[in-house]
Amino acid sequence: MESIGALSKKLSDYLDPKKVKQVNKAYDFACEAHSGQYRSSGDPYVTHPIAVASILGNFRMDEDSLSAAMLHDVMEDSGIPKSVIEKKFNKQVADLVDGVSKLNTLSISSKTESQAENLQKMVLAMSKDIRVIVVKLADRLHNMRTLLYLDRDKQLRIAKETLEIYAPIAHRIGMNNLYRELEDLAFKTIYPTRYERLTAAVKKNRGGQKRILKKIQKEMSDRLLNEGIASLVEGREKHIYSIYRKMKERQRSFEEIMDVYAIKIIVDNAENCYRTLGHIHNLYKPVRGRFKDYIAIPKSNGYQSIHTGVIALQGIPVEIQIKTQEMNDMAENGIASHWLYKSGDKSDTSPQIKARRWVAGLLEMRENYETTEEFIDSVKTDIFPDEIYVFTPQGEVIEMSGGSTAIDFAYAVHTDIGHHCKACRINKKLAPLSAPLESGQTVEILRDKIPQTSPAWLNFATTPKARHSIRNYLGNLKSSEARKFGKKLLEQSLENLNIKLKNIDKDKLRGALDSIGGRSLNRILKEIGLGIRVANIVAQQIAGFVNLDKEFDSDTTTVPLEITGSEGLVVNYARCCRPIPGDSVMGHFSAERGLVVHQDRCKNILSFRKNPEQCFPVNWGESSGKFFTAQIKIVANDEPGLLANLASSITESKTNISSIQTTDLNSGLHEFVLDLEVSDRLHLSKIIKRIKTLKSVVSVTRIHDQEERQAKVLH
Ligand code: MN
Repeated sequence: MESIGALSKKLSDYLDPKKVKQVNKAYDFACEAHSGQYRSSGDPYVTHPIAVASILGNFRMDEDSLSAAMLHDVMEDSGIPKSVIEKKFNKQVADLVDGVSKLNTLSISSKTESQAENLQKMVLAMSKDIRVIVVKLADRLHNMRTLLYLDRDKQLRIAKETLEIYAPIAHRIGMNNLYRELEDLAFKTIYPTRYERLTAAVKKNRGGQKRILKKIQKEMSDRLLNEGIASLVEGREKHIYSIYRKMKERQRSFEEIMDVYAIKIIVDNAENCYRTLGHIHNLYKPVRGRFKDYIAIPKSNGYQSIHTGVIALQGIPVEIQIKTQEMNDMAENGIASHWLYKSGDKSDTSPQIKARRWVAGLLEMRENYETTEEFIDSVKTDIFPDEIYVFTPQGEVIEMSGGSTAIDFAYAVHTDIGHHCKACRINKKLAPLSAPLESGQTVEILRDKIPQTSPAWLNFATTPKARHSIRNYLGNLKSSEARKFGKKLLEQSLENLNIKLKNIDKDKLRGALDSIGGRSLNRILKEIGLGIRVANIVAQQIAGFVNLDKEFDSDTTTVPLEITGSEGLVVNYARCCRPIPGDSVMGHFSAERGLVVHQDRCKNILSFRKNPEQCFPVNWGESSGKFFTAQIKIVANDEPGLLANLASSITESKTNISSIQTTDLNSGLHEFVLDLEVSDRLHLSKIIKRIKTLKSVVSVTRIHDQEERQAKVLH
């Protein structure tokens, strides 16, 4: 329990004596107003406002917020009118206390209506002064910390309310430390045994990892020091509730979650964040697709950092965040950290400005919605930006992660509905099962009597639940069933090409199967059924053979297969030459990987060319909106801000960078190797042109051949 003396001392670290005096005056006032009142713990009531003010003191909040924290319960509990507070202190303090008091009546019940009202109240309070919410959150945090003195029913109600309303709001305004503590306290209250067990498991796991984590941290900081970058490398801990949530929602095992090491690197400025990224990628192998630049493009709550993933030592996956101290404070305390850095930060990325803009947007939304339900739905989508909310025809809300498709929805409703679905209606219109969903849509799944589960669904099923269920189903198919299933799929695909499987001449079929590398029809059918081969592709190959005498000489082999990148797991793009649409390409069949597409010029396809039966002509079909990875090499003069300029010029052209590696060449030159996600050659050439306009850039080239590149780096 903190005394007012200790609090004043803490405050005088950053506040003028005059301001500390105002807070002391508020304390005296609160003492008087709450005299004779006690907390459930038996402590004098005033210990609560002191604790709330102290939490705000840790954020270095201003004297008016601290005074309001001292007084936040006097209107409600002691019946002191707002006018008295205004006279004794000032209008700001009075408004803050009034705002917090109004939020005191928030509570949740099962009815949507009252939850909507609660959120509306929050939004209105925030729109007047965002500090109201910060004070309210600190109040809630202290109440959660002292929850054990209440009876069980109250504990559960308050904990649930915290999970449903307060924690998401804290998260949304970027107060992550507070958000994590609220969630953990609520989780501990609702599921005490699960909390204990998980905490013990985490402790044990961390003990085992300590040595290896230390080693990785040391390697990183030594490397950075060698490169002249001062850094602080720390391990990052996941909070208990987030581990629990991941296990539950993403259906991952405890080990899967804990086996990923998380490290945070703090350096002194943004430029060094990018440099650090380059050196870390040079030290350890980066994981494709994990690089995210939230410095150039901050998240909607103002969060800034560079994220990447690497494989360290002997194959240990490590998630890394690279940021400055200021970015780190912002990441932990969100808008509250603004009071720490108010020195003229008028940039767009200041969390305060972001939060204001968000609240303004909410208010605007509120005016545009006719019913509170509509409003609450959109607020919810906004507070949980990564989640979408879609409806069943019965009006039930299904929560899914962003990017989910109709097939994901079907499996989210019920595994059986997933297996039996054949089509869907989105907002009453027929749509393919691959259609990406958006919040607010009503999705109806049309079912067939027999299971329709198809390996092709893996192309667009995105949620772990759907993918797992589909794989499981296919894996469990017995050989005979897989054959039957594969036959059905192949017949369907052949029908689209006006061919009936049973009408195909035996010899021709034999020839076609030979060219695909299949020993027997049964085997091919089984492979289709198990998702090893795709029916459409096999059908096209057979069609090529069947139609030979009609359109081609018997000397020519097969008609080219059209590929678009959306074929999924059975068409692979070679890692050695990384073909993208527009390149001239050639395919070959591999037993394990299906069809592998190489660039025509790739060395690795040369040996296959000698065996025409293993080669397969392919052409690019119409664009499917998929992205392909192309690798480019940039040589540039070492200049401050170079990598930041590069990265932002690329991201501005709406292109994702999935990996960056840097190498120092001699004579002040740097070489960067970037993995870019592009739609085709035209897209890539536009980016290359754009990079060439940067002043310090000496050359930009596309890397066609991995070996070639490595050879050059070595010499
Ligand atoms: Mn209170």
